[in-house]
Amino acid sequence: MTFKIAIVGRPNVGKSTLFNRLAGKKLALVDDTPGVTRDRRIHDAKLYDLRFDVIDTAGFEDAAAATLEGRMRAQTELAVSEADLILFMIDAKAGLTPNDRAFADIVRRAGKPVVLVANKAEARGAQGGMLEGWELGLGEPIPISSEHGQGMPDLREAIIEALGEERVFPPDEEDEPASFVPEVLIGEDIADPEAEEVPSYDATKPLRIAVIGRPNAGKSTLINALVGEERLLTGPEAGITRDSISVDWEWRGRKMKLFDTAGMRRKSRVQEKLERLSVADGIRAIRFAEVVIIVLDATIPFEKQDLQLADLIIREGRAAVIAFNKWDLIDNPQELLAELREKTDRLLPQVRGIRAVTVSAETGRGLDRLMEAVTATHEVWNRRISTGRLNRWLEGVLAHHPPPAVAGRRLKIKYLTQVKARPPGFVISCSRPDAMPQSYIRYLTNGLRESFDMPGVPIRIMLRAPE
Ligand code: GDP
Ligand code: GDP
Repeated sequence: MTFKIAIVGRPNVGKSTLFNRLAGKKLALVDDTPGVTRDRRIHDAKLYDLRFDVIDTAGFEDAAAATLEGRMRAQTELAVSEADLILFMIDAKAGLTPNDRAFADIVRRAGKPVVLVANKAEARGAQGGMLEGWELGLGEPIPISSEHGQGMPDLREAIIEALGEERVFPPDEEDEPASFVPEVLIGEDIADPEAEEVPSYDATKPLRIAVIGRPNAGKSTLINALVGEERLLTGPEAGITRDSISVDWEWRGRKMKLFDTAGMRRKSRVQEKLERLSVADGIRAIRFAEVVIIVLDATIPFEKQDLQLADLIIREGRAAVIAFNKWDLIDNPQELLAELREKTDRLLPQVRGIRAVTVSAETGRGLDRLMEAVTATHEVWNRRISTGRLNRWLEGVLAHHPPPAVAGRRLKIKYLTQVKARPPGFVISCSRPDAMPQSYIRYLTNGLRESFDMPGVPIRIMLRAPE
């Protein structure tokens, strides 16, 4: 069972060029003239180890030709409705146009997983256009060049994250070796290999928190309850400082800074813009935060938008906790909680074990437990594990469940080291990174998560051949 990807975007952004690259054929006609009519095509495609069907929607007439607008929409909607994932393409060189926004609206309404790609990123001046892409509220723009084949590893990564590993690598194909060498991306903060497990955060700095969720989930009520005046009186500095973006307060003597999306939203109560605004706010908030509180209305939990927001948090490498709000309205708490926990782990496998707390923003119940979950998750997100401990653990793992043999040769793992925190990132040095099956990488990720107690944070694993 393979999945379908529709490439969607206004004319001339480079959809056919990418289609050809993925399908490995000169199928779609590439033309410089916008509006050259072509048919929608489906073709089997691959991107490194990913196999899927790609739907090309190239050739829609320019929306300026009013009579053709309906047709354009109908075709895009058809492609979108057939697809499991939408690859929404913009032209980073040209920047956003009203047409991009119109297409983005169609895509947003579909509520399907979306990967936003900013094409022609190799072009001079493409940076500005790429940044504009954030305004679409479709997540982080992935810079690529369809023509030159650049950015393809990031595109692969984004597709996996958007669809989920279970969907991309169905269990029956699990032991196929990955033909892809994950690139080693080491951030600025390379760990001292002997660093011990001390939290790498500065406890004198405020812990940055954002509260996100659908409209009406209870975000404003929760924020007000968290930073309410009575709490503030207990801290050494009375009074709260509130600028347009954040609110400072203290919890159990610890400084906290909260990104106030709800406040921003109140300033612009244009009904039709509500949904879009909450997504755009969500993106800003996620970038600001170290820990994100996802507020779900327990009476209507887990809609698509919640999952998209959660997905974005994971992509951005943030730590997250879930607040199941309005718990005061629930009359079967035991049952519902079990159901919600099961759903959470199934729908968000990337952050298995994520802390979820039942709260009532209105009555204030559960808020201390919520803040305990926030600080605990922050600690995990910042954690550094010593190379010594990691390798003692690895020895045990290799003894009990070594990597499989590929083409008669056993894959060798030499060592494991944590190269970064915030979120935790590890490098595995192994004989043939390109042959290591994804299933084994997943096995190690889950093992690390359990053995070193790292629930609720994204874990990055990179493979590297020894020098
Ligand atoms: P479509 O209408 O969205 O299918 O766009 P096409 O694939 O036909 O591409 C439109 C134009 O953009 C063509 O002239 C392509 O050669 C050019 N193009 C496509 N991808 C890139 C790229 O990555 N960089 C640059 N500079 N040009 C590109
Ligand atoms: P926001 O749009 O996410 O900021 O949501 P609000 O904070 O404005 O809350 C939306 C509605 O839900 C309001 O009518 C709140 O009074 C109500 N609400 C918020 N939290 C709770 C709660 O814990 N219990 C109950 N019963 N209602 C709540």
